[in-house]
Amino acid sequence: MTCARRIFIKINVIKIGRTVGACRRFFHAELVRHESSGLPIVHHNQYVCELPVNHRFPMAKFPRVLHFLLKDQVITDKQVWAPKIPSKELLSCVHTEEYLQNFINGNVEEKDQRRTGFPWSQGLVRRCRYETGGTVLAAEVALQRGLACSTAGGTHHAFPSYGSGFCLLNDLAVAAKYVLNNSSKRKVLIVDLDVHQGDGTAFIFKEDPSVFTFSVHCAKNFPLRKQQSDLDVSVQDGLEDKEYLSTVEAHLPHLLQTFRPDLVLYDAGVDPHQEDELGRLRLTDQGLYQRDLYVMKTVVSRGIPVAAVIGGGYSRDIDKLALRHSIVQRAATQVWRECGM
Ligand SMILES: [Zn+2]
Repeated sequence: MTCARRIFIKINVIKIGRTVGACRRFFHAELVRHESSGLPIVHHNQYVCELPVNHRFPMAKFPRVLHFLLKDQVITDKQVWAPKIPSKELLSCVHTEEYLQNFINGNVEEKDQRRTGFPWSQGLVRRCRYETGGTVLAAEVALQRGLACSTAGGTHHAFPSYGSGFCLLNDLAVAAKYVLNNSSKRKVLIVDLDVHQGDGTAFIFKEDPSVFTFSVHCAKNFPLRKQQSDLDVSVQDGLEDKEYLSTVEAHLPHLLQTFRPDLVLYDAGVDPHQEDELGRLRLTDQGLYQRDLYVMKTVVSRGIPVAAVIGGGYSRDIDKLALRHSIVQRAATQVWRECGM
């Protein structure tokens, strides 16, 4: 990267900071790290809750992502920001009053619990709210600092009035709406590279020109009935690193140039990995790293802030999975360094 380019980025980041910072500073932070100069990592110990023994959702992965980032000295604890729990009012910018009321109070029918994949509990409600708060905070911090990552998030199958596929609240949609309603920002691009289509997000914004939804997903995978994103790229089973990366490269620069977003929300799901239990693609660790690096560097080098979330990833080996999820923060650290942020 040239020096001129680096200066350009700096100026943009500072400008972004002034605009939003002037009206409201880190409204959604429980723990604020003003002194930290490194890549902001948003995490909360309430990202997890108890599940029945042998439940197939790998709930224990969230604290392990942070654990590996600290252990491998990718980050220090000074870089960790804790989100506040979002109010019901904030969640209602996406979800219906009735759904929130029933979900928060545990008035959830058996069949609705089955569709979400989770038995209802107060812990589940708390966890989903903190996770959503984490994505909102990551977006807010990204607007000030240029780049931020949460260690959870990407619950893109949640619809306004029901949850589905391990997703109860649509954190990406809430974060996008929050930014548009509370800042001078006018356009948000959601880049969803989880192996499953971001159907809830696509539905929520289908008639909203201020949010562009871009989803690259495996055609023969959940959800069976797809929604229409602003741009859907559906790929076949068995896709490998090189072809996958070319697919992303074929669309992202053009989208940035034509839509001109003020913020990108990036769902860096690791379920396109070859060892994932639910994905059907064949990406390697290196392939995911190249993908994350490419997405964030392409966006940030144009002076556009990015907030990344970890998205889906499924394995019985929690540590292997958590390491895989930490790829996005490792790639973001490289972007942070190389772009002189
Ligand atoms: Zn997924």
